[in-house]
Amino acid sequence: RKLNVALCGLGRYAGYLAEGLAVSQYCRLAGVVSGTPAKLADWQKRYNIPPQNCYNYQNFDEIVANKAIDLVYVVLPNALHKEFTIRAAKAGKHVIVEKPMATTAADCRAMIAACKAAGVQLAVGYRLHYEPHHQELMRLGQQKIFGPVRHIDVSLGYRLDGADPNDWHFKKALSGGGPLMNLGVYCVQSCRYVLGAEPVAVTAQFGPVQHKDLYTEVEEAITWQLYFPGGVFCTSTSANNFGIDRFFASTDNGFFELSPAVSYGPFRGRTSQGELKFPDINQQAAQLDGIGRVLLAGEKLPDHIAGIEGLKDLMVLEAIYKAAETGRRVSINS
Ligand code: NAD
Repeated sequence: RKLNVALCGLGRYAGYLAEGLAVSQYCRLAGVVSGTPAKLADWQKRYNIPPQNCYNYQNFDEIVANKAIDLVYVVLPNALHKEFTIRAAKAGKHVIVEKPMATTAADCRAMIAACKAAGVQLAVGYRLHYEPHHQELMRLGQQKIFGPVRHIDVSLGYRLDGADPNDWHFKKALSGGGPLMNLGVYCVQSCRYVLGAEPVAVTAQFGPVQHKDLYTEVEEAITWQLYFPGGVFCTSTSANNFGIDRFFASTDNGFFELSPAVSYGPFRGRTSQGELKFPDINQQAAQLDGIGRVLLAGEKLPDHIAGIEGLKDLMVLEAIYKAAETGRRVSINS
């Protein structure tokens, strides 16, 4: 049997997830949740979804009575993740919530508590945990294949000029912040999972604002440094005024790198001993299958994909903002 998934929020990324669901071995698209009746009608027709599995944001809680839905995948603007995760949990559904898990660590804690109280499992949509190049980065780093990692430089940015100024990404109440929340979370993730360790402190600096009309509420660019135990440190920039997508780890006996590193591929990488190349896969399908297989077997999701992982990232993101705002080094208590 396949896990029956309802997508909550039918924007851009939901389209990628629908493609992943179409080829998933363990999950299928069974329901949709949207505030726009025309989108519900369109998705219902396109994906052959029964009308009784379509909800709007008002009647969403009625999903509690719907045995044909096992899991709700929350793909809404960041600040809405908390509300819809908690409502889905209260309706007895497992939840996958997109990155960043929420806009504050406190909200992450509330989401984890709600899922625990309801006896459902909570996963974060960290697709790269199921991606072969990134699994290799984890192996090279955590198993110290080229010796211990001393430094990681990882950055992600893309230009958003010409974007609709009303887009939720520019509204702090909906996004929680700028490119740090949207893109920087991937940089923080990769440092944490390649080192297999937690940062103890952070320093950070906001970049100059070039598009003053768009960036009145959130940063346009931000640079930060994460300090790990043993003197290891990582440097990153996330920006919406230039393009960058690369990962580089320097080790005692060599290096390993990937660029592009975070997009949907194809990825290209190399190590001090040669090419780093694996098949480019459908990342959304791989992630859904990885989570679906565990849930169908009635097993517990591993911590690296569960709510606790999203919470740890939010603690780091909050510390980065605090460091950039105060100009001080900020400790992280994990
Ligand atoms: P989007 O703007 O394309 O879609 C958001 C959807 O939410 C839209 O359908 C919109 O109608 C709906 N919505 C409901 N209430 C809203 C409100 N009050 N204001 C604005 N929109 C509202 O955004 P997206 O790119 O699909 O991003 C959705 C989530 O997915 C975000 O959390 C984002 O970080 C995440 N995401 C993840 C990846 C990934 O690779 N894992 C990629 C892109 C986006």
